[in-house]
Amino acid sequence: MTVACPDCGTAEELPQSPHGLILCRSCGNVLERTAGRSLDAALAFAASTFILLAAANFLPLLSVSMAGAPRDSVLFSGTATLWRQGWVLLAIGIAACGIVLPLLRFALLTATLGAIRLGQRPAWLGPAFAWAVALELWAMPDVLLIGFAIGYTRVIAFLPTEIGAGGWCFIIAALLSMVAGAVLDRQRVWRAIGAAPVLPATGAFLSCTVCGLALPLAQERARCPRCRTRLAARKPDALTRTAALAIAGYILYVPANLYPMTILLRLGDPQSHTILDGIDELIDARLWPLAIVVFTTSISIPLLKLVGLTWLLFSVRHAAPGSLVIRTKLHRFIDAIGRWSMIDVFTISIFAPLMQFGQLATVQAGAGAVAFLAVVVLTMFASRAFEPRLMWDAAAEAKG
Ligand SMILES: [Zn+2]
Ligand SMILES: [Zn+2]
Repeated sequence: MTVACPDCGTAEELPQSPHGLILCRSCGNVLERTAGRSLDAALAFAASTFILLAAANFLPLLSVSMAGAPRDSVLFSGTATLWRQGWVLLAIGIAACGIVLPLLRFALLTATLGAIRLGQRPAWLGPAFAWAVALELWAMPDVLLIGFAIGYTRVIAFLPTEIGAGGWCFIIAALLSMVAGAVLDRQRVWRAIGAAPVLPATGAFLSCTVCGLALPLAQERARCPRCRTRLAARKPDALTRTAALAIAGYILYVPANLYPMTILLRLGDPQSHTILDGIDELIDARLWPLAIVVFTTSISIPLLKLVGLTWLLFSVRHAAPGSLVIRTKLHRFIDAIGRWSMIDVFTISIFAPLMQFGQLATVQAGAGAVAFLAVVVLTMFASRAFEPRLMWDAAAEAKG
């Protein structure tokens, strides 16, 4: 069967059921990896992740006691607290990436893998799996886990804190979600949903931007028979959309770093915390590893994404011939790493709801947190909108 590398467009002939590790010979992208992967294991891990994630919503996440008065938080508390404080976008972003989309992704994975396991091929299988794959970017139990760890160290600096049953369910679910992602052989699922048709030996072809199915170019603008996505040889308007999103990201990067992420009101006296202040605090508490994590994910990664995408955009415009493999790898890296920047936003959602003691001490979100969330989301959309195959097209065209 013919497959086309999603990153550089190079066509490759693979056996009907490929085995082992197969790399793209042009850009080194992994086209197929079967080792350590199994549909049964992916189904088991996806289903347990879903059950534990669901349970984590109903049980106490963290418990603190202040002057003998216990107080519990649940997974949803961060959203509720920020919503009450008027930070609606922040509340929606946290609820979506931390709670709703993870549940949806693992429900879809369980349903699709379960159906395949039972030998069923219902019509919704392709679109449902396409959604499950797309949500890998936006469902962030793994990122929330790190935010949870940092939020927990922040609360425990003030108050004795215990992790509740919901907290343990969530920690295990987040770890299992990573295993589920690692053992899932996506290409094998796609082949189980619909086998690749045999292409005529001559003639141009395109590959579906979602499931990778190779089809004759004449089918452009029709729907993919496997995942029902509208077929396009290249992502439409990739350069314009990436540029617009990146410019918006640059603009918001400034307030994200200048304005406070959180404000601590202690006996009515406000103390603002920007991203850098938060890192300072972790260093003062001698929590070096966490300080490095926050610096990398909140300061370096957003900037690397913006500068990197700018370079990629200019390289397409000027039809740069060199470093194609490096640029393709950079895009893959930017695309994969972007979601980890949500750590700092999740941290607020963990410690803010517990730090509500009226006149004594109250934590509020600041304008910087909204700007920062916007930078993270815009740059994630920007790297998704970019089409790495345009770099290869431009270089090939320049060569003649
Ligand atoms: Zn390739
Ligand atoms: Zn498709």
